[in-house]
Amino acid sequence: MSNRQPVTVGSLSAAPGSRATGLVPVDIGEAVLELPVVIVHGARPGPRISVTAGIHGAEYVSIAALREVALSLDPANVRGCLVAVLTASPRAFATRTIYVNPMDGLNLNRQFPGDPQGTPTQRLAHWLTTEVIAGSDVFVDMHCGDMNEALVSFTGIEDTGDATIDARSRELAEAYGLRYLLIGPSPGTTTTAAATLGIPAVLGEVGGQGRWPAEDVALHAAGFRRLLRAAGLITDAPDEPAFTTELLPTEAWMRATTTGYWHPSVGVGDRVAKGTVVGEVQDAFGAVLERPEATMDGVVIFLVSSLAMNAGDPLLALAG
Ligand SMILES: [Zn+2]
Repeated sequence: MSNRQPVTVGSLSAAPGSRATGLVPVDIGEAVLELPVVIVHGARPGPRISVTAGIHGAEYVSIAALREVALSLDPANVRGCLVAVLTASPRAFATRTIYVNPMDGLNLNRQFPGDPQGTPTQRLAHWLTTEVIAGSDVFVDMHCGDMNEALVSFTGIEDTGDATIDARSRELAEAYGLRYLLIGPSPGTTTTAAATLGIPAVLGEVGGQGRWPAEDVALHAAGFRRLLRAAGLITDAPDEPAFTTELLPTEAWMRATTTGYWHPSVGVGDRVAKGTVVGEVQDAFGAVLERPEATMDGVVIFLVSSLAMNAGDPLLALAG
């Protein structure tokens, strides 16, 4: 529970009953980043909820949805405090880079809890862990398909082995109300870092492909508001979700083994049986380099939608 002292994140501070917005300097060795942060400190005591978007800088639905919610909350109607990092990897955002931080080529969401003596991305992960995630009662990480990925909406939680934390994370994910619920492990991610600190945590994913259509932003924002209500931060939220969330307990990513031209033959959201050919990678002249087969029965939860494919890159992920 937040006390009645100001809530501070780096250089930014908000007294009870107020909102603070600002670019917070984060020294990551090679550069000082400026992260856009919003603190909505409620007039009444309650939980501290921290949230990030833009861990992957080209995931626009999540960034747009978090900005919409964080900037619209009225401190007079908030119990506790929301700490929102609107764009957590600003160099990736500015350069429209998929998957990684261009400063060192590392995927920020594989570097948690980070390293204060490490590369720029590892230092950024450490700052987010210590300044944003630690000390929270609930943590949320908002994502979507990257600029080259289509996906069906889903939430993700970790299996920490602590029944109390896991039940709370699941309750909050179900309040978010997206189509599917996936359960980790996902080493190096924000939600695993939060779980290690004993903090219930939810990953939310809606939309992708470098677009931010109003209906996707609304779906992500409404889900996040329902989570905030379930967590006790606000009392009003949009209607109950359109989906009955379906649990998909296991997940498998399929990766290309060749470099070339990707022609998927399944669609995002399709249910496929193990052994189904999911597409082919061709060379420049149409010869088939590989014809990968589904590695499990499951739903295609995301699908790479770019023609360009590189050996080692994800093709799609299945969950079931
Ligand atoms: Zn992401």
